[in-house]
Amino acid sequence: MSDELHHRLSPSSAHRWLDCPGSVALAEAHGLAGKDSDAASEGRLAHEVFAAMLLGEPLPEAPEDMVALLRPGADTILAHVEATGGHLYVERAVPLGRVIPGGFGRADVIVTWVDDCGPQVWVIDLKYGMVRVDPSHNPQAMLYAIGAMDDLCDGDPPRVLIGVFQPRAGGWRRWSPCPGDLAEFAARVAAAEPLTHNPTALSPTARACEYCPAKGVCPALAASMPTEIAENSIASTPAMPEATTVAPDRVATILSAKNTVEKWLASIYEAARDKVLAGGQPPPGLKLVAGRLGTRAWADHEAAKEALVGALGEAAWEPRKLVSPATAEKLLGKGSEAMPATVQFPTAPVFVPEADKRPALGAPALPLGAEGAS
Ligand code: SF4
Repeated sequence: MSDELHHRLSPSSAHRWLDCPGSVALAEAHGLAGKDSDAASEGRLAHEVFAAMLLGEPLPEAPEDMVALLRPGADTILAHVEATGGHLYVERAVPLGRVIPGGFGRADVIVTWVDDCGPQVWVIDLKYGMVRVDPSHNPQAMLYAIGAMDDLCDGDPPRVLIGVFQPRAGGWRRWSPCPGDLAEFAARVAAAEPLTHNPTALSPTARACEYCPAKGVCPALAASMPTEIAENSIASTPAMPEATTVAPDRVATILSAKNTVEKWLASIYEAARDKVLAGGQPPPGLKLVAGRLGTRAWADHEAAKEALVGALGEAAWEPRKLVSPATAEKLLGKGSEAMPATVQFPTAPVFVPEADKRPALGAPALPLGAEGAS
């Protein structure tokens, strides 16, 4: 994982630089390279725990539920290695020079073995997030697969199996690319690589821009913003149109861009804040101040306990609270007959594209331009 952070074309951000190759050069030009947000500390710890389980090493200190969630995945891999007499590689740096000059990536897990069908390679990517990741045509996993084939497989080309283990989003998912899938993907990467040196080779898409480190400085993203937002965000006297007066087709454009717009505005805020904290000038007319004080906490928990129990007795403690359904299920085990019935209440309604499978609330949408025609 750490080596990837030092290569400009990391597999973990391949979904972005394949869609928008210029994002790499643009981020580099602004000192923003390597600031993708997918290296969260919780995810890093999960990878360390998973690696230790597979290598039979002492586990790093980690929450019990994380250990419990990761264990079945590690057991599945270890059982497979034993059953096939295969080789296990953990956090293996694999070369990507075939498609990215000087490139490499660090695969979470690779298993190789030979059976009646010939050589096999299983590339496994651990994902600890809760947004479901699909292994099919997954650029990160396909890069690892290319690296694993070049690094570990001599002779006949192996059959490749890609696995995503995502314990908080459904567990295992697998995909077996055919040789044509990998060849086509390798050609796509090789074609994109030269463009990653060109900061004007920009191509905004919701998927690429969402976690792009350069979105706060990106002219292509700013140009793609709905004009009501882009123009008014930079106006000296903001004059957003009254919400009820915006035409329906513009409302559709604005709502479709909501996530990207929010992240774009947040990135501008963060960039300005980081600049001031690093000793730079604040934006004209603004200053950075300390945030409001957070919730009060005991300065010395043990001393507070002693004082409050002495003064209040039992009243010093919070009343007992029933565990949540999620905690009860964890304690009782899935499918336990002791589990009481649960209900779920919908959260606030959300706008989604018409193609979404969920039934619509209210009247059906009219075709664009039809509103007001009668
Ligand atoms: S914000 Fe979007 S368009 Fe701009 S560089 Fe990043 S991915 Fe490309």
